[in-house]
Amino acid sequence: MIKTRFAPSPTGNLHIGGARTALFNYLAAKHAKGVFVLRIEDTDVERSKEEYTKDILEGLSWLGTEWDEGPHFQRERMDLYREHAFRLLAEGKAYKCYCSPETLEEKRKAALKEGRKPNYDRTCRDYTGDGGDRPFVIRFKTPISGEVSFDDLIRGKITFKCEELDDLVILRSDNTPTYNFTVVIDDALMGITRIIRGDDHINNTPRQIVIYEALNYGVPEFAHVPLIHGKDKGRLSKRHGATSLLEYRNDGFLPEALMNYLARLGWAYGDQEVFSKDELIEKFNLGNVGKSPSIFDMDKLLWLNGHYMKTLPEEEIARRFEPFVERLGMKVRNRDQLVPIVMNLRERAKTLKEMAEMAAFFFKDDIQYDDKARQKFLTPATKPVLERFLSGFRGLKSLDTEDQRQLIEGLAQETNKKLVDIIQPIRVALSGKTVSPGIFEVISIIGRADVEKRLERAIASIT
Ligand code: GLU
Repeated sequence: MIKTRFAPSPTGNLHIGGARTALFNYLAAKHAKGVFVLRIEDTDVERSKEEYTKDILEGLSWLGTEWDEGPHFQRERMDLYREHAFRLLAEGKAYKCYCSPETLEEKRKAALKEGRKPNYDRTCRDYTGDGGDRPFVIRFKTPISGEVSFDDLIRGKITFKCEELDDLVILRSDNTPTYNFTVVIDDALMGITRIIRGDDHINNTPRQIVIYEALNYGVPEFAHVPLIHGKDKGRLSKRHGATSLLEYRNDGFLPEALMNYLARLGWAYGDQEVFSKDELIEKFNLGNVGKSPSIFDMDKLLWLNGHYMKTLPEEEIARRFEPFVERLGMKVRNRDQLVPIVMNLRERAKTLKEMAEMAAFFFKDDIQYDDKARQKFLTPATKPVLERFLSGFRGLKSLDTEDQRQLIEGLAQETNKKLVDIIQPIRVALSGKTVSPGIFEVISIIGRADVEKRLERAIASIT
């Protein structure tokens, strides 16, 4: 059975690159009817924060990459790592190193000065004496010669020479374990069969493989995914826009769009761009993940978001849209208005946030008139038009489009004006703007009583 995992360190919010790694692991597991595990790597007590863990869990849930197992927390498994370190020590596969940080630093500097790799010089590797109660770290005895190879599922065979690898510290002098050690123990004990992670971890993989072997644990498969870059080819960072997944949620993006977008960021299936979650699960395979960095393209994400804004069921969009209205400081008094508003705006609004901004005038009676709109359309010359419309409107049998049309057309004829000269002042009176959805729809969404109130207010504002 395929078992994958996402193993973030809670030292920052869930980054868009991390979200993609999570998604690839999720899809690989679901495609194979396997299990997707979530593990929080929180051994760095100083930098790990509860709020980041919360952000990560919330981000993954929002995106729809539900985990089947976990979250496991490394901090609760410390004894396990220590036991393993002492087991390797007892088996002669690791050793106590008593070199002081100062000595190590001096040696490191000297090595760099002479152009050598600043690896540990293995002074303590064969030390058999008793270090007494001097502080020590436990170092792993990396094979001194030979090679470590693995068949990366994305990049093919990758080989490292053992001499490039260091005798890694696996347990620090304060008794805390290091990343390359904890990750092996957890992946092994949690039965992870396939590790999919960013290719910034490639150099760690041989270091981890030699630890698996020393512990007699089966080595899993590895797939290293190229990183995400901005348009300028630099590694994706703040200057390219939002990098935290939940920022996209807060900006009114839909998780369907993010999932679709992130899946295509590095993975392709012919030239297909739009994928439902089920389709991604059915079609995802690591063989189709590219080897070069992917470029983050905001326009494409916006396009996909627009696509889902238009195609998800309107009730669903309406439900998600409501909080965005409230965030603009307005209350939805009548929920029945939401679906018609969505139907009206979803062709144009690229995000829920944009939709809420466009729709703001529906939700408040004391709308602000745009200066230019007011100067042009709320004037002594248009006042009689508004007054006649209001009186006709009061007598209207219904708000059906046909009845509204007759009223406006009749008014145009009586006053010898063009339709647009009637409609624009009404539009400004009702929406504050010269551009809005179709006037008949605006009127029926706002409803009889509020339309009358707004017209009265606009008329009164003309002096
Ligand atoms: N905690 C590590 C990170 O966030 C996990 C790396 C891995 O997937 O092994 O980079």
